[in-house]
Amino acid sequence: MSNNHDSLTTYRRRRDFRRTGEPSGDDPPPANDEPVFVIQQHDASTLHYDFRLEVDGVLKSWAVPKGPSMDPRERRLAIATEDHPLAYANFEGTIPAGEYGAGTVQLWDRGSYHNRSTDSDGNPVAMERALAAGKVTVELHGTKLNGGWALVHMEDVRDNNQWLLIKVDDETADARRNPTSTQMESVASGRVIEEMRQQDS
Ligand code: MN
Repeated sequence: MSNNHDSLTTYRRRRDFRRTGEPSGDDPPPANDEPVFVIQQHDASTLHYDFRLEVDGVLKSWAVPKGPSMDPRERRLAIATEDHPLAYANFEGTIPAGEYGAGTVQLWDRGSYHNRSTDSDGNPVAMERALAAGKVTVELHGTKLNGGWALVHMEDVRDNNQWLLIKVDDETADARRNPTSTQMESVASGRVIEEMRQQDS
């Protein structure tokens, strides 16, 4: 059991697992060779993308209203949300009406990542420390997204849940590419969220 097990308290308190098909996180987490990332399109009260990174046995999570951009000049708001169990990286389905986060969850992209976070001297920084310092850089290896993205905490705003998701200006940066509109299908089922909503409701 990881140190972060207790960090699922908020996740569990918000959900009734007799009603929602989401994982409770009680089962032993899947053993991953490399830490996973997942981006889930979530058609809740407002459509957003949930960006999640495996850190110390849980999925650190941010809700990104506009989703990731391939353009390093774009700064996408990313609101830190409660830690999710690792098994959530395999969850796709519809959260029933009346439950927390009610709506369709689609596996928009998934894969592994490498931590590329550094301090101001360029020395590597562990994920836990990078999160605490409010500056995380990861290299994603997904189906749709590859390359570097940075998550930067907005220290100057009162709401300390606010971060920015910014594409690293590397060889995978491409301002003309817009995968949230050109690659809308699920990496698990191939369905777009509109189909899922009609089929599952
Ligand atoms: Mn969400």
